[in-house]
Amino acid sequence: MTDSDTKDIFSKKKSLLITNVVTAEGKQVDIFIDGQETISDFGNEIRKQHRGEADFIIDGDGAIVLPGLSNTHTHAAMSLLRGYADDMILQDWLSQKIWPLEAHLTADDVYWGTKLACLEMIRTGTTAFNDMYFQMESAAKAVDEAGIRAVLSYGFIDLSLPEKRENECKATKKLVAHIKAMNNSRIKAAAGPHAIYTVSPEGLKWCAEFAREQDIPVHIHLSETEKEVTDCVTQHGKRPAQLLDECGILTHTTIAAHGCWLDDDECTLLGKRGVFVSHNPASNMKLATHRALPYQKLNEAGAPVCIGTDGCASNNNLDLFEEVKTAALLQKFFWNDPTILPAPAALAMATTTGAKALGFGTGILATGAPADLILVANHTPCNTPLHNIPSNLVYSCNGDSVETTICNGKVLMLHHEIPGEHEILSKASHAAMQLVKRAQA
Ligand SMILES: [Zn+2]
Repeated sequence: MTDSDTKDIFSKKKSLLITNVVTAEGKQVDIFIDGQETISDFGNEIRKQHRGEADFIIDGDGAIVLPGLSNTHTHAAMSLLRGYADDMILQDWLSQKIWPLEAHLTADDVYWGTKLACLEMIRTGTTAFNDMYFQMESAAKAVDEAGIRAVLSYGFIDLSLPEKRENECKATKKLVAHIKAMNNSRIKAAAGPHAIYTVSPEGLKWCAEFAREQDIPVHIHLSETEKEVTDCVTQHGKRPAQLLDECGILTHTTIAAHGCWLDDDECTLLGKRGVFVSHNPASNMKLATHRALPYQKLNEAGAPVCIGTDGCASNNNLDLFEEVKTAALLQKFFWNDPTILPAPAALAMATTTGAKALGFGTGILATGAPADLILVANHTPCNTPLHNIPSNLVYSCNGDSVETTICNGKVLMLHHEIPGEHEILSKASHAAMQLVKRAQA
C-alpha cells in the first residue's frame, strides 16, 4: 500500500479485505467488508474469492481480531480535566475542584474534550461508549466526526427543586430531539437521571416515563458510595435500587454505573429487571469507595455486568484493556477468591455484554454483524508467548497494543495512524488551559 493509498482508506467507506488474523478463540480467519456497515464475509481462507473485489487489503500478519470494545459508563469531555485534581476525598474533590471548573465549561470545551476522548478510544480499541454530560449537542457533533458509536445522555440534576426540574426536562427533550434529527445510526440518545442523591423521585419518574415514550435507554449512577445508601435509607426508608424500581427506572434497557454497595436483594432485583450494571473499578479504587461491585452475586442473579472507565478525571484514561485487567484483579482481591472473573469473562464485559448494553449488535464477529473490529498486534512482548489469547489480552496487553480500529465499516486507525490526531491534541490542550484560566480568574 502506498502513502496516497493510506490517505484514501480513511477518506470514505471502501471495500476491505483483512487477511491472516486470529480470533480470541484461536481461529485463523479472513474478513471481507464490502463498503457496507456490516461484515460481508467472515471465515477461514475466504481471501481467494474476495481478493479481486477489495479496494484495500490489510495484511493482519497474525494479529488478534476482536469486536470493537464498548465503554458503558463515561463522561467523555472530562478528558479536559485529566490530572487537574487527584488524591482527594470524593466530596472535596467534587465540590472544591471538579464542579467549580465544570461551571465554566462551554459548548466548545465539550466539543474538543469529546474529540480528545474519541481519539483516545479509537487508539485503544473502543468503538462505542455510553456518555453522560452537559452541552451534549457538541458531544454529538464530535462523535459524528470521529466515526465511532455513542449513546448520549444529558446529566439530569434537579436537586429536588421544581423549577430546576422543568429546565432539566427541557434540556433532556431538546437533546433527544436533536439526536433523533441527526438520523445517524451510530449515535443514540438516552435519558440520564444523574443519581438518586441529585434527582428527586418526581424527576426519576419523569425520566423513566420519557424514556419509555421515546423508546430510549436510561443511564444512571447507582450505589457508588456507602453514604448514598445510608442517606437513601434514612430519607426514603429503602435502599437505592428499590427506590429506582418504584420510580420505574429499572428495565432491560437501563445501564446503572458503579453498583459498589448493592446488597443481595438489590442484585436479585437488578437481575429480575435485566438491568445492565457497569463496573468501574479504576474510578472506584481511586476514589476509595471502600467496596467492590458484587460481581458474583450479580452474575448469579442474572444481571449482565459490563465495564466502564468513568470520566477521565477519576481514572485517568479511557483504556478499556486496563479497565478489564483492573476489574479482574479487584474482584479477586476484594472478594478474596482468585477464581472470580476469569480472563474470558472479563473480556466479555467489554465485548459481548458491552455491545448488548449499548444496543449496538451482539459483540460477536460473524458474517452480517456490525463491521466494528480491532486488530491487536501479535508480534509484541505482551503477546509473546501466546499460550492462551484471552489471558494475554486481559492480563498482559494494554490499549497501546491495538494497531487498527474499524467502526461501521470505516477504517478509523490503520497501523497506529489516526488522521487529524495532531490538531485534536493541540486544540483540546488549548481548551483545557483556557478553561482553568477562566475558573481561576
Ligand atoms: Zn460517572
